[in-house]
Amino acid sequence: MPEKFVDESCKKPAPLYSTAAGTTCPVCGKRSYSLRGIHPQCAVVQADAPRQAALAAAKRELARSHSSGDAE
Ligand SMILES: [Zn+2]
Repeated sequence: MPEKFVDESCKKPAPLYSTAAGTTCPVCGKRSYSLRGIHPQCAVVQADAPRQAALAAAKRELARSHSSGDAE
């Protein structure tokens, strides 16, 4: 298979779409066309983040109290 000629100077062409239309999702950083500018699935993740963090912290605390004297 012959190798394609690659010009080092233009390896990465400028993206045709930057942030012209639409908005960038604050969670995943990709463009979103939804009303709030955030993907529905990302909105769920964002809304759930504090709860997940609290759960994780509680879990860590539980593990810490169970493993007596274990260095972290
Ligand atoms: Zn997103």
